[in-house]
Amino acid sequence: MSSTHNQMTLVGERLQMPQSLWADTAIKAPSLKALSGNVSCDVAIVGSGFTGLSTAIHLAELGLDCVVVDAAEPGWGASGRNNGQVIAGLKQDPDVVEKIWPGAMGEKLVRFGSQAPGKVFDLIQKHSINCAGINRGWIQPAYTRSGDAAVRHRCEAWRARGIDARLLEGQKLFDLLGTRKYHIGWIDPRGGSIQPLSYARGLAHTALRLGVRIHNRTSVQSITGSAGNFVLKTASGSVFTKSVIVATGAYAENLVPGLRTSFVPVRTAQVATQVLPLDVRSAILPKGNVASDTRQLLTSFRLSPDGRLVMGGSGATAGLDHSRIVPYLHRAGQELFSHLGKIEWSYAWSGYFAVTTDHLPHVHEPRSGLHIAVGCNGRGIAISTSMGIELANRVAGAQASDLSIPVTSLRNVAFHRFRALGVAAATQYKRMQDRLG
Ligand SMILES: Cc1cc2nc3c(=O)[nH]c(=O)nc-3n(C[C@H](O)[C@H](O)[C@H](O)COP(=O)(O)OP(=O)(O)OC[C@H]3O[C@@H](n4cnc5c(N)ncnc54)[C@H](O)[C@@H]3O)c2cc1C
Repeated sequence: MSSTHNQMTLVGERLQMPQSLWADTAIKAPSLKALSGNVSCDVAIVGSGFTGLSTAIHLAELGLDCVVVDAAEPGWGASGRNNGQVIAGLKQDPDVVEKIWPGAMGEKLVRFGSQAPGKVFDLIQKHSINCAGINRGWIQPAYTRSGDAAVRHRCEAWRARGIDARLLEGQKLFDLLGTRKYHIGWIDPRGGSIQPLSYARGLAHTALRLGVRIHNRTSVQSITGSAGNFVLKTASGSVFTKSVIVATGAYAENLVPGLRTSFVPVRTAQVATQVLPLDVRSAILPKGNVASDTRQLLTSFRLSPDGRLVMGGSGATAGLDHSRIVPYLHRAGQELFSHLGKIEWSYAWSGYFAVTTDHLPHVHEPRSGLHIAVGCNGRGIAISTSMGIELANRVAGAQASDLSIPVTSLRNVAFHRFRALGVAAATQYKRMQDRLG
């Protein structure tokens, strides 16, 4: 699929919220208008997903005047389409993070990932965000023999860092998951779930209440100028601002040279069943946990607030179409819960998340006053919310060295032009690894 085709289709896609279970059951979207004419502010934020909105809320609380613009609307990107699993930590295990960043930086980064879910649940509570936020723990069951070792290692790594993580085996695991597909897993009490689009919209309502101006259907076409005097051009007006935050996630285009090629946008899908009968519902994750197994092609499952099984992951593609992933998810759901009767699927949707080469989130400052956060690697609910806090502190005067995420320069992913082929090949390879264990 050519990138021109991808971009044209994206422009069309942006005119409406993609169909999904979340779109059909979320709280009301805020009433917004596209930017018309010129406005000025202290900080302009491009993108109204979790990253952009969390930044805006924390900047407003620090007394700065913010304008947020989104080519579509709050939660339109990955933020409104994900599985809603609030997960602690980064994609890499804490000991690996400390090897990549030895010393104080690694320790800060691990602490940042560890505390990230707490920031989400605090924000929900503080601003009474109506998004079905539940903090009953995240379970990671092992799918293969190598997954078994990973689960033991991860659980121990977090216990060594003071977290009350526990290994679960046999009946204890079954009692929490409701499936006998797995024999070992670990539970992380920091995790939980949200209705993701309600969380994104709730963040937008909160930002508006705090005086942030948000414009939907406003695509930023260029960023010019320098610290203290930036200009963001859109089709229908301009934003004059002292500082700029680029929070466009995997949907970044060519706004900042080198940003789009610093990560690989990977499309992953979600499917949801019909509302389940009460007896079936109460047999799946009966204690209100959520779960993602150790498959290379991660498979996540949870119940939605309205009582459906929602499955995510299990395959990835760089293209726009998710129709090839959906059958894997249906099969994965069948494999886990067919003992509960026939599963009827009623939704399928998908979105892009950003994968970086080191599987860590990145903060970049290509010019003074221009800040970028990207690369949550599929762990974005807690991490992007927390990156918003970091970015707000930075703009408000914190030193780069005070941040919990290192500020690095933008680096091209090698062979980025061939990413579609790379993702397809990696997907086939990982699928084989998942079969062989
Ligand atoms: C299917 C799926 C399942 C996932 N499941 C989970 C999960 O269970 N748990 C978890 O922790 N993470 C999950 N993730 C990852 C998580 O959703 C993301 O990491 C996170 O939402 C990224 O938020 P963001 O604000 O950085 O970007 P996004 O939410 O993608 O927002 C970017 C915004 O930028 C806007 N934009 C782009 N270009 C411009 C422009 N030029 N002008 C104006 N606006 C622009 C877009 O319109 C978009 O609204 C999942 C992701 C996907 C896709």
